[in-house]
Amino acid sequence: MKLTLIRPNLGDYRSSDAMPPLAMGILAARARDFDVTFYDEKAEVVPVNDQPDLAAFSIETFTARRGYAIADGYRARGVPVVMGGYHPSFLPEEALEHAEAVVVGDAEGSWERLLEDFAAGRMERIYSGGNDAPLHDYRLDRSIYRGKHYAPVELVQYGRGCRFACDFCSIHSFYGTTLRARPLDGLVAEIETLPANRLLFFVDDNLLGRRSEFLALLDELTPLKRRWSCQMSIDVARDEAVLDRVARAGCRFVLIGFESLNEASLAQMGKAWNSVSGSYERVVRALHSRNIGIYGTFVFGYDADTKDSIARTLDFALESRLEIANFNPLTPTPGSALYDRLLAEGRLLSPKWWLDPNYRYGDAIFEPRGMRPHELTDGVFEARRRFYSWRSIGSRVLNADTAFSPFRAGLTTIANVISRREIYKKQFRQLGL
Ligand code: SF4
Repeated sequence: MKLTLIRPNLGDYRSSDAMPPLAMGILAARARDFDVTFYDEKAEVVPVNDQPDLAAFSIETFTARRGYAIADGYRARGVPVVMGGYHPSFLPEEALEHAEAVVVGDAEGSWERLLEDFAAGRMERIYSGGNDAPLHDYRLDRSIYRGKHYAPVELVQYGRGCRFACDFCSIHSFYGTTLRARPLDGLVAEIETLPANRLLFFVDDNLLGRRSEFLALLDELTPLKRRWSCQMSIDVARDEAVLDRVARAGCRFVLIGFESLNEASLAQMGKAWNSVSGSYERVVRALHSRNIGIYGTFVFGYDADTKDSIARTLDFALESRLEIANFNPLTPTPGSALYDRLLAEGRLLSPKWWLDPNYRYGDAIFEPRGMRPHELTDGVFEARRRFYSWRSIGSRVLNADTAFSPFRAGLTTIANVISRREIYKKQFRQLGL
């Protein structure tokens, strides 16, 4: 039987920052009785005449409108459709308007049951596997990524879940309080199969889960002499000795959610703990002095935020010479506490903004208190535009405050050029087209 896996993009276009989606490799590895084809719309066109026995979509909030349109095309050709991912997990009834079945939660377990039921002609509407099964049987089929011309980074996963519960983030609603890590022998064996010259990227939402498991990971990574990057909570910088171990283990880039310079905003988002490592300037110095590049993320639109907050944050990102930065208008996605709060307060400009043909990527989605919606939209775009100006890129690549590293300079240049291109490609784009 033929199975097509599809990752839709925001719309019908190709992205220059596409990376191999691990979720699809997991689905492929667990569909052994099927002849699997994978289309990644970020990297290629999804053919309009594809005719498998079953089509399976991975849907995010930003790709829902596009994914539903492609799914409707499959169904019009008589192909049954199934969906999974965060968005359908939070809104299964919405997804079921475009699919025969939905997988709620992690795919492992429920995905195999769905395929078995499909083959036996008794597929149900909802397959719910929960999100707390141990990750001992983690499997991935990377062969489906071949020929897609992805960014030269190898994605790996150590665990799932996060210790924190920031109100704009849906990780906590999805995984609850469970933190799960894979057995290290399986992870190390997987890493050893990956090209040695490639940067590894841990996709974990927060690699610093349980401290003991994190330190055990560093011990295993150190002798491998691999260069890697990850997303990590800022409290990693609390302890200089741990930071030394992180650097020795090969960490070269880390994504840190600084989010805001505004204490009141941090408190409102449930991230007041962001100050446990001292000032942001200290954190930047601690990482840069160990030759670790920083990808800083920032969000605007909490009640205490004004236009000035955006300008001040941009100044901080430029003066700190963050290698990469992401400035975002606060985005209430289904499943997050933020979404529920703004909906209850009647402040969402369009409650189902991800399906709204009038919504454009980068638009403010709600009424902020400290500025007008268009000021939030324009302020964030201006911050992105200025951070990714050629002049700014040049000064950050040649960061005079740290020892020059050809690896970091090369990676920073490539990442900035790609980010700049994607910003202009995505900004004000209508979802789905
Ligand atoms: S620390 Fe990161 S992953 Fe964890 S809840 Fe906050 S935003 Fe989400």
